[in-house]
Amino acid sequence: MIVLGIETSCDETGVGIVRRAADGTLELLADEVASSVEEHVRFGGVVPEIASRAHLQAMAPTMRRALDTAGLELSAVDAIAVTAGPGLSGALMVGIAAAKAYATGSGKPLYGVNHLAGHVAADTIEHGPLPPRCLALLVSGGHSQLLLVEGLTEKITEIGATIDDAAGEAYDKVARILGLPYPGGPPIDKLARQGNPRAIAFPRGLTGQRDAPFDFSFSGLKTAVARWVEKHEATGAELPLADIAASFQEAVADVLTAKAIRAAREHGIDTMVISGGVAANSRLGELARERCAEAGITLRVPRPRLCTDNGAMIAALGAHVVASGAKPSPATLAADTSLPLVYGS
Ligand code: ATP
Ligand code: MG
Ligand code: FE
Repeated sequence: MIVLGIETSCDETGVGIVRRAADGTLELLADEVASSVEEHVRFGGVVPEIASRAHLQAMAPTMRRALDTAGLELSAVDAIAVTAGPGLSGALMVGIAAAKAYATGSGKPLYGVNHLAGHVAADTIEHGPLPPRCLALLVSGGHSQLLLVEGLTEKITEIGATIDDAAGEAYDKVARILGLPYPGGPPIDKLARQGNPRAIAFPRGLTGQRDAPFDFSFSGLKTAVARWVEKHEATGAELPLADIAASFQEAVADVLTAKAIRAAREHGIDTMVISGGVAANSRLGELARERCAEAGITLRVPRPRLCTDNGAMIAALGAHVVASGAKPSPATLAADTSLPLVYGS
């Protein structure tokens, strides 16, 4: 079965194509992404109107490239999947409208799927079907969540989430404080490698005894970095940028991995998936490998390209949804920023 996936929830226009075998393994046939990130750089964050217009311009060419790469015509595809939420409403609307047009034009069934479940599904492209139960740590520009996944198309339960900023958002805001470009993850990650992660003791949010065990908070950490920088600048001394980056990065990786391991232990889970743009972070990966090995947990992290927004992950989730026997979405399919994690639930 061949499924084409369309992703436009934020600033990436993605079209991916996968072939799913009966045993659930996927073959990646195409993964084309056009990003409007350059157009948002000077605003220091994604501007919804600009993202929507960029999707409109990029949709048809990205679709063409994906089909060419796969060496297929749309007629060879069995179904089309599209991100129906969560995300920016205007951006989602462009993808859904395009998907409806392609589906109607080619007579293929259309499935509107959840973007966050798609991030988890991305790993099934790289590492095959998920075990019956696993824990997903989803860390991106807009989300930081711990999901208990008991079947991608059956049961996904959110057991923790950020109460303020997402992990990627914290990276982007701290980068701005340090005068680094947007998006902040990659430059901070690079700088941190030359710094001392123990130079500054930044706070670990929500790790107190009485705090919610699986929720995250990163806004206090961001404020702590801002305060530290202000104080240091007042002395007239040069900012130790690499040490600040390394210490901030250590705080984020420490909290994320500690809570994820604890959640896996409490729920008796032996497989952890980390996905979303922040999963590309080098220190998070390193610390997660270390702590999962100690805890006897199998760690699965898709390659960075599959961690950030892309159409292949939507095609992957779509293929699993089609295989589950679910009905296509109705013709009234619309963007839904609070779309349930499991298709059709
Ligand atoms: P969402 O998926 O929540 O709708 P999004 O589209 O912003 O949001 P992604 O494309 O998955 O999410 O991820 C982008 C985020 O990942 C940005 O905040 C960026 O700073 C962060 N990021 C990318 N690479 C790294 C890295 N190496 N280290 C830390 N953060 C990173
Ligand atoms: Mg993005
Ligand atoms: Fe995303």
